Amino acid sequence: MSLIDESQIRVILLDIEGTTTPVDFVYRTLFPYATRKLESFLRAHSQDPEIHSLVQDLRSQHDLDERDGLEPPGWLDNTEEARLRSSVAYGQWLIVRDSKCTSLKSLQGKIWQQGFASRELRGEVFPDVPVAFERWQRQKRTICMYSSGSVLAQQLLFRTTTSGDLTPYISAFFDTHVGAKTEGGSYKKIAASLSYAPHRFLFISDAVKEIEGALSVGMQAILCVRGPGDAPPHGQDQAIHSFDNVLPD
Ligand SMILES: [Mg+2]
Repeated sequence: MSLIDESQIRVILLDIEGTTTPVDFVYRTLFPYATRKLESFLRAHSQDPEIHSLVQDLRSQHDLDERDGLEPPGWLDNTEEARLRSSVAYGQWLIVRDSKCTSLKSLQGKIWQQGFASRELRGEVFPDVPVAFERWQRQKRTICMYSSGSVLAQQLLFRTTTSGDLTPYISAFFDTHVGAKTEGGSYKKIAASLSYAPHRFLFISDAVKEIEGALSVGMQAILCVRGPGDAPPHGQDQAIHSFDNVLPD
Protein backbone atom coordinates (compact mmCIF):
# COMPACT_ATOMS: atom_id res chain seq x y z
CA MET A 1 0.00 0.00 0.00
CA SER A 2 3.01 2.29 0.11
CA LEU A 3 2.31 3.77 -3.32
CA ILE A 4 -1.20 4.76 -2.28
CA ASP A 5 -1.88 8.22 -0.88
CA GLU A 6 -4.55 7.12 1.58
CA SER A 7 -5.47 10.60 2.74
CA GLN A 8 -6.71 11.46 -0.77
CA ILE A 9 -9.06 8.49 -1.12
CA ARG A 10 -12.78 9.25 -0.91
CA VAL A 11 -14.16 6.47 -3.13
CA ILE A 12 -13.27 2.78 -3.21
CA LEU A 13 -14.16 1.25 -6.57
CA LEU A 14 -14.17 -2.55 -6.65
CA ASP A 15 -14.08 -5.23 -9.28
CA ILE A 16 -16.20 -8.26 -8.30
CA GLU A 17 -15.06 -11.55 -9.86
CA GLY A 18 -11.66 -12.41 -8.43
CA THR A 19 -11.70 -9.39 -6.08
CA THR A 20 -14.76 -9.38 -3.78
CA THR A 21 -15.97 -12.79 -4.96
CA PRO A 22 -14.27 -16.07 -5.91
CA VAL A 23 -13.40 -15.98 -9.60
CA ASP A 24 -15.19 -19.29 -10.23
CA PHE A 25 -18.53 -18.29 -8.62
CA VAL A 26 -20.11 -17.97 -12.06
CA TYR A 27 -18.79 -21.31 -13.31
CA ARG A 28 -19.15 -23.27 -10.10
CA THR A 29 -22.52 -21.90 -8.94
CA LEU A 30 -24.45 -19.83 -11.49
CA PHE A 31 -23.95 -21.89 -14.66
CA PRO A 32 -24.82 -25.27 -13.04
CA TYR A 33 -27.92 -23.68 -11.50
CA ALA A 34 -29.13 -22.42 -14.89
CA THR A 35 -28.46 -25.85 -16.44
CA ARG A 36 -30.42 -27.58 -13.68
CA LYS A 37 -33.39 -25.19 -13.80
CA LEU A 38 -33.72 -24.62 -17.52
CA GLU A 39 -36.33 -27.34 -18.15
CA SER A 40 -38.60 -26.51 -15.21
CA PHE A 41 -38.29 -22.79 -16.00
CA LEU A 42 -39.31 -23.25 -19.64
CA ARG A 43 -42.21 -25.52 -18.65
CA ALA A 44 -43.46 -23.05 -16.05
CA HIS A 45 -43.31 -20.17 -18.56
CA SER A 46 -44.44 -21.94 -21.74
CA GLN A 47 -47.39 -19.54 -22.10
CA ASP A 48 -45.31 -16.41 -21.49
CA PRO A 49 -44.92 -14.52 -24.81
CA GLU A 50 -41.51 -13.12 -23.82
CA ILE A 51 -40.13 -16.60 -23.10
CA HIS A 52 -41.77 -17.92 -26.26
CA SER A 53 -39.94 -15.33 -28.33
CA LEU A 54 -36.61 -16.11 -26.58
CA VAL A 55 -37.10 -19.79 -27.51
CA GLN A 56 -37.72 -18.73 -31.12
CA ASP A 57 -34.45 -16.77 -31.01
CA LEU A 58 -32.72 -19.90 -29.69
CA ARG A 59 -34.19 -21.81 -32.63
CA SER A 60 -32.66 -19.31 -35.10
CA GLN A 61 -29.29 -19.50 -33.34
CA HIS A 62 -29.53 -23.29 -33.53
CA ASP A 63 -29.91 -23.09 -37.32
CA LEU A 64 -26.88 -20.80 -37.56
CA ASP A 65 -24.79 -23.17 -35.42
CA GLU A 66 -25.84 -26.09 -37.60
CA ARG A 67 -24.93 -24.19 -40.75
CA ASP A 68 -21.55 -23.34 -39.21
CA GLY A 69 -20.90 -27.06 -38.66
CA LEU A 70 -20.87 -26.82 -34.85
CA GLU A 71 -23.10 -29.91 -34.56
CA PRO A 72 -25.57 -28.77 -31.90
CA PRO A 73 -28.02 -31.40 -30.59
CA GLY A 74 -30.95 -32.03 -32.97
CA TRP A 75 -34.09 -29.84 -32.86
CA LEU A 76 -37.66 -31.14 -33.34
CA ASP A 77 -40.68 -28.85 -33.70
CA ASN A 78 -43.43 -31.41 -34.45
CA THR A 79 -45.05 -31.19 -30.99
CA GLU A 80 -44.87 -28.65 -28.19
CA GLU A 81 -43.18 -31.24 -25.98
CA ALA A 82 -40.58 -31.95 -28.66
CA ARG A 83 -39.86 -28.23 -29.05
CA LEU A 84 -39.48 -27.85 -25.29
CA ARG A 85 -37.09 -30.79 -25.04
CA SER A 86 -35.12 -29.49 -28.00
CA SER A 87 -34.76 -26.03 -26.50
CA VAL A 88 -33.62 -27.50 -23.16
CA ALA A 89 -31.01 -29.75 -24.80
CA TYR A 90 -29.74 -26.92 -26.99
CA GLY A 91 -29.72 -24.39 -24.13
CA GLN A 92 -27.71 -26.75 -21.93
CA TRP A 93 -25.32 -27.37 -24.81
CA LEU A 94 -24.82 -23.59 -25.13
CA ILE A 95 -24.19 -23.16 -21.39
CA VAL A 96 -21.44 -25.83 -21.48
CA ARG A 97 -19.82 -23.85 -24.30
CA ASP A 98 -19.99 -20.60 -22.26
CA SER A 99 -22.01 -19.12 -25.13
CA LYS A 100 -22.61 -15.35 -25.24
CA CYS A 101 -25.80 -15.91 -27.27
CA THR A 102 -28.13 -13.06 -26.25
CA SER A 103 -31.33 -15.11 -25.92
CA LEU A 104 -29.51 -17.64 -23.74
CA LYS A 105 -28.08 -14.83 -21.58
CA SER A 106 -31.59 -13.43 -21.12
CA LEU A 107 -32.95 -16.82 -20.09
CA GLN A 108 -30.06 -17.40 -17.70
CA GLY A 109 -30.59 -13.95 -16.19
CA LYS A 110 -34.26 -14.69 -15.55
CA ILE A 111 -33.48 -18.09 -14.00
CA TRP A 112 -30.84 -16.56 -11.70
CA GLN A 113 -33.19 -13.77 -10.70
CA GLN A 114 -35.74 -16.37 -9.55
CA GLY A 115 -33.01 -18.36 -7.80
CA PHE A 116 -31.80 -15.30 -5.84
CA ALA A 117 -35.37 -14.28 -5.04
CA SER A 118 -36.15 -17.73 -3.61
CA ARG A 119 -32.77 -17.76 -1.78
CA GLU A 120 -31.80 -20.98 -3.58
CA LEU A 121 -28.90 -18.93 -4.89
CA ARG A 122 -26.80 -16.75 -2.62
CA GLY A 123 -24.10 -14.28 -3.51
CA GLU A 124 -20.60 -15.10 -2.36
CA VAL A 125 -17.96 -12.70 -1.03
CA PHE A 126 -14.63 -13.29 0.71
CA PRO A 127 -14.91 -13.02 4.53
CA ASP A 128 -12.82 -9.83 4.72
CA VAL A 129 -15.24 -8.01 2.39
CA PRO A 130 -18.13 -7.22 4.81
CA VAL A 131 -15.58 -6.26 7.48
CA ALA A 132 -13.89 -3.82 5.10
CA PHE A 133 -17.25 -2.36 3.95
CA GLU A 134 -18.11 -1.62 7.55
CA ARG A 135 -14.72 0.01 8.18
CA TRP A 136 -14.74 2.12 5.00
CA GLN A 137 -18.27 3.29 5.68
CA ARG A 138 -17.27 4.29 9.21
CA GLN A 139 -14.42 6.28 7.63
CA LYS A 140 -17.10 8.07 5.55
CA ARG A 141 -15.70 6.68 2.33
CA THR A 142 -17.92 5.79 -0.61
CA ILE A 143 -17.99 2.20 -1.89
CA CYS A 144 -18.83 1.41 -5.55
CA MET A 145 -18.72 -1.62 -7.84
CA TYR A 146 -17.54 -1.90 -11.42
CA SER A 147 -18.08 -5.30 -13.06
CA SER A 148 -18.80 -6.73 -16.48
CA GLY A 149 -21.80 -8.51 -14.93
CA SER A 150 -25.03 -6.49 -15.34
CA VAL A 151 -25.97 -4.00 -12.61
CA LEU A 152 -28.98 -6.19 -11.80
CA ALA A 153 -26.77 -9.28 -11.36
CA GLN A 154 -24.36 -7.30 -9.16
CA GLN A 155 -27.20 -6.11 -6.93
CA LEU A 156 -28.63 -9.63 -6.59
CA LEU A 157 -25.22 -10.97 -5.61
CA PHE A 158 -24.60 -8.40 -2.85
CA ARG A 159 -28.19 -8.47 -1.59
CA THR A 160 -28.14 -12.20 -0.84
CA THR A 161 -24.70 -13.00 0.61
CA THR A 162 -24.34 -15.33 3.58
CA SER A 163 -23.16 -12.22 5.48
CA GLY A 164 -26.51 -10.60 4.77
CA ASP A 165 -27.59 -7.77 2.48
CA LEU A 166 -24.47 -5.74 1.69
CA THR A 167 -26.18 -3.35 -0.76
CA PRO A 168 -26.72 -0.64 1.91
CA TYR A 169 -22.93 -0.17 1.94
CA ILE A 170 -22.73 0.31 -1.82
CA SER A 171 -23.42 3.74 -3.30
CA ALA A 172 -23.28 2.87 -7.00
CA PHE A 173 -22.95 -0.06 -9.38
CA PHE A 174 -21.32 0.31 -12.80
CA ASP A 175 -21.28 -2.21 -15.64
CA THR A 176 -19.97 -2.14 -19.20
CA HIS A 177 -22.57 0.49 -20.12
CA VAL A 178 -19.83 2.97 -19.09
CA GLY A 179 -17.37 1.12 -21.34
CA ALA A 180 -14.86 -1.72 -21.19
CA LYS A 181 -12.98 -2.25 -17.95
CA THR A 182 -9.63 -1.98 -19.70
CA GLU A 183 -10.39 1.48 -21.15
CA GLY A 184 -9.27 4.61 -19.34
CA GLY A 185 -12.36 6.44 -20.63
CA SER A 186 -14.62 4.18 -18.57
CA TYR A 187 -12.89 5.23 -15.35
CA LYS A 188 -13.09 8.87 -16.38
CA LYS A 189 -16.87 8.51 -16.80
CA ILE A 190 -17.24 6.84 -13.41
CA ALA A 191 -15.22 9.61 -11.73
CA ALA A 192 -17.31 12.29 -13.47
CA SER A 193 -20.59 10.62 -12.53
CA LEU A 194 -19.58 10.69 -8.84
CA SER A 195 -18.18 14.25 -9.09
CA TYR A 196 -14.77 13.38 -7.67
CA ALA A 197 -11.37 13.88 -9.29
CA PRO A 198 -9.83 10.55 -10.37
CA HIS A 199 -7.02 10.71 -7.76
CA ARG A 200 -9.71 10.57 -5.04
CA PHE A 201 -10.48 6.97 -6.12
CA LEU A 202 -8.87 3.69 -5.15
CA PHE A 203 -9.68 0.98 -7.70
CA ILE A 204 -9.05 -2.65 -6.72
CA SER A 205 -9.08 -5.52 -9.25
CA ASP A 206 -7.45 -8.87 -9.98
CA ALA A 207 -6.85 -7.90 -13.62
CA VAL A 208 -3.63 -6.03 -14.49
CA LYS A 209 -5.19 -4.54 -17.65
CA GLU A 210 -8.04 -3.04 -15.61
CA ILE A 211 -5.56 -1.59 -13.10
CA GLU A 212 -3.69 -0.02 -16.01
CA GLY A 213 -6.94 1.45 -17.36
CA ALA A 214 -7.68 3.12 -14.02
CA LEU A 215 -4.09 4.35 -13.54
CA SER A 216 -4.07 5.85 -17.04
CA VAL A 217 -6.65 8.48 -16.03
CA GLY A 218 -5.04 9.21 -12.67
CA MET A 219 -6.99 6.95 -10.34
CA GLN A 220 -5.06 5.22 -7.60
CA ALA A 221 -5.24 1.46 -8.07
CA ILE A 222 -4.02 -1.75 -6.56
CA LEU A 223 -3.94 -5.34 -7.78
CA CYS A 224 -5.75 -7.98 -5.72
CA VAL A 225 -4.41 -11.55 -5.83
CA ARG A 226 -6.83 -13.85 -4.02
CA GLY A 227 -5.52 -17.40 -4.52
CA PRO A 228 -3.48 -18.40 -1.41
CA GLY A 229 -0.65 -19.78 -3.56
CA ASP A 230 -0.95 -17.20 -6.33
CA ALA A 231 2.09 -15.02 -6.82
CA PRO A 232 1.42 -11.54 -8.21
CA PRO A 233 2.47 -11.13 -11.85
CA HIS A 234 5.99 -9.86 -12.46
CA GLY A 235 6.41 -6.20 -11.53
CA GLN A 236 3.23 -6.17 -9.41
CA ASP A 237 4.78 -6.64 -5.98
CA GLN A 238 2.34 -4.12 -4.46
CA ALA A 239 -0.52 -6.63 -4.76
CA ILE A 240 -2.86 -7.24 -1.83
CA HIS A 241 -4.35 -10.64 -0.87
CA SER A 242 -7.33 -9.41 1.15
CA PHE A 243 -8.95 -6.07 2.07
CA ASP A 244 -7.76 -6.33 5.69
CA ASN A 245 -4.94 -3.82 5.28
CA VAL A 246 -6.66 -1.57 2.75
CA LEU A 247 -7.33 1.75 4.49
CA PRO A 248 -7.10 0.39 8.06
CA ASP A 249 -8.33 2.48 10.98
MG1 LIG B 1 -11.99 -9.59 -11.81
